[in-house]
Amino acid sequence: MTAAEATMRALRLVEPGRPVEEQLVERPEPGPGEVLVRVGAAGICRSDAHYRAGTAPAGPLPLTLGHEVAGTVVETGPGTRRPGEGERVCLHYLDTCGTCPACASGREQFCDEATMLGKSRPGGWAEYVRVPARNAVPIPESTSFAHAAVMMCSTATSYHALRRARLEAGDRVAVFGAGGLGLSAVQLARAGGALEVLAVDVREPPLEIARQLGARPVQGGEDAAARIRAATGGRGVDVAVEVAGRRTTVRAALEALAPMGRVAVAGIFAGGVDVRPYAELIGREAELIGVSDHLLSEIPDLLEWEEHGVLRMDPVVRRTVPLEADAVNGALDRLEELEAEGRAVIVP
Ligand SMILES: [Zn+2]
Ligand SMILES: [Zn+2]
Repeated sequence: MTAAEATMRALRLVEPGRPVEEQLVERPEPGPGEVLVRVGAAGICRSDAHYRAGTAPAGPLPLTLGHEVAGTVVETGPGTRRPGEGERVCLHYLDTCGTCPACASGREQFCDEATMLGKSRPGGWAEYVRVPARNAVPIPESTSFAHAAVMMCSTATSYHALRRARLEAGDRVAVFGAGGLGLSAVQLARAGGALEVLAVDVREPPLEIARQLGARPVQGGEDAAARIRAATGGRGVDVAVEVAGRRTTVRAALEALAPMGRVAVAGIFAGGVDVRPYAELIGREAELIGVSDHLLSEIPDLLEWEEHGVLRMDPVVRRTVPLEADAVNGALDRLEELEAEGRAVIVP
């Protein structure tokens, strides 16, 4: 192997608070039970902006970021049976032990030994990435790498949120935040049989996209809950999905609930939220539910829906950028300014 083949380009977080840097690093080799994947696409996520800013931990540094990844298997480690070389795959970002009590009970997101691609182990903002073979899920021929990559985080989280909220056919649903997660949540709620889906945002362009995807747009802001009540004949919603990551939208979601309603909170923000226990929870038997990550077992559902056109990723993935530090730092800046509409995806 020549020196050029043994290295690869990677975008790495060197120090929180500083731009990510392009570095030449050693190209990884797959160990037993692992595969080496040539990256076809890697999403740029709000979490990455948090890692860069130091508002969420990532490391040990320097670390190649990128937890939303799809590509082609180019090498398999000893004892790896599937997927095989040449297979197109998307990557589940949590590498869990598989045997601890959390893993054994199907709650793998609480595995104490879990590592996460692009957060605590080298991720996909590189030419190649090494992962356990079981994390590499084959994707349909018609599914693009960019679409598969973004399904690995925002779409999967949205799906997990709806499952946590126990969405049932005939439910009225409000989705707070019509960005990458929200536009997935709108479509998945419809696929799950929602009677109607209201998309709530303060920005006009994402609301228009949500409308095209079958949601009823509701202007966000101070009176959002009242507008939702008015739009539902005073009933309120059975399920609220909060992906905007704001104190005010969690409040609006609580206020917009029907009796027995459930709020699934997946948006992250610092600080607290006031809850009036009787009026908002006890008296309505309402639930406020946390949503953490998603499960490997949820990924095949998403791939199938995308293949059959129930889930459209083109409105979610808005643009691609090259594997270059300037372009990616620029995309992260836009996420921090909350300007971004939909997702930017790195295509090396
Ligand atoms: Zn993400
Ligand atoms: Zn475990």
